[in-house]
Amino acid sequence: MSTLELVGVTKAYGKTIAVDGIDLRIENNEFFCIFGPPSSGKSTILRLLLGLAHPDSGKVLIGGRDVTDSPPASRDLAMVFQNLALFPHLTARENMAFPLRERHETQAVIDAQISNVAEKLHILPLLHKLPGQLSGGERQRVAIGRALVRKPSAYLMDEPIAALDARLREEMRVELKRLQREVGHTLVYVTHDQEEAMSIADRMAIIWKGRVAQIGSPDDIYNRPVSKYVAELVGSPPMNFIEGTVRSGRFQADGIALDLPLAGLIDGRIILGIRPEDVAVSSAMPGQKPSGFSIFETEPLGAFSIVDIIAGDTILKAQVRGHAKFPLGQEVNLHVDPSHCHAFDPINGANLLLNGQR
Ligand code: ADP
Ligand code: MG
Repeated sequence: MSTLELVGVTKAYGKTIAVDGIDLRIENNEFFCIFGPPSSGKSTILRLLLGLAHPDSGKVLIGGRDVTDSPPASRDLAMVFQNLALFPHLTARENMAFPLRERHETQAVIDAQISNVAEKLHILPLLHKLPGQLSGGERQRVAIGRALVRKPSAYLMDEPIAALDARLREEMRVELKRLQREVGHTLVYVTHDQEEAMSIADRMAIIWKGRVAQIGSPDDIYNRPVSKYVAELVGSPPMNFIEGTVRSGRFQADGIALDLPLAGLIDGRIILGIRPEDVAVSSAMPGQKPSGFSIFETEPLGAFSIVDIIAGDTILKAQVRGHAKFPLGQEVNLHVDPSHCHAFDPINGANLLLNGQR
């Protein structure tokens, strides 16, 4: 149970700046996700917290204590790595017992801890097996179990379930969330899967090129992205972007018939952002003036459908409920709710409607 902090931390490997002046504070008992594309510096952040890497500048604090120069063993953090390293010659039970034996716990404590954790992870029937006799998902759960039995001050996980198939991943993330709530410990969880981060994090940091692009709850990140970059990174299908001009409180798109009231902006060029679920589509009426929008493709996905709409020389995506029944090429009308639109600076990508401007 600890807060974890990086204060102005920079770490370079030769010419590569892996972590570039990061400030990050992870609160006690929170499920904190570190999310970003590959090579953005996520694993390096964990290594800095663990003490496996030393910052070039800045400080690392655990529970408010400066541990920048403390060795990994004294930091009392448990790590589940991307590649699970179970001892192949030890059973699942002995793999889980390993960190407790290192701490010279009694057999009674070891048995009790393993039973407790194994039950939560649904691996009780597997404890007598060797890693070679377990499936990938089972091995993953044993590795997680081995981290859990130690009761450290915080858990760090580096893409712990990335190797599992989709259904098992979904199951495991629900399980992890439940476990973290039950155990009530600080958990730092690295992932490059936005859906995973959004679904399990209490708060998350978006890392980009070694820097923090935004920190907030999944709701903040999704609904109040600070930049076009963040807006683009979360949500699937991704947000639609439409360039255009704002004049006297109205947005006029370049080259397509989209004209909306958009309050709170000074006149000039913007990139309008609108999520697919905020675009509604209806069939054009016979005899109406041409809308300029037509169906390019529909992708029914069961509960909803993704509709690709030709708009000038771009494609806009709409997400509609149920099975969309638009014939290809059909002319349609688009309905966009201005109160759900985002506006970004075309030069630096900043969200122009944050900070009480709206
Ligand atoms: P992520 O986990 O987000 O994929 P990493 O933190 O592993 O990113 O890496 C960030 C950058 O630092 C990458 O460009 C990577 O190649 C580089 N890097 C990380 N660790 C080392 C290392 N030990 N030696 C050299 N370069 C490294
Ligand atoms: Mg990594």
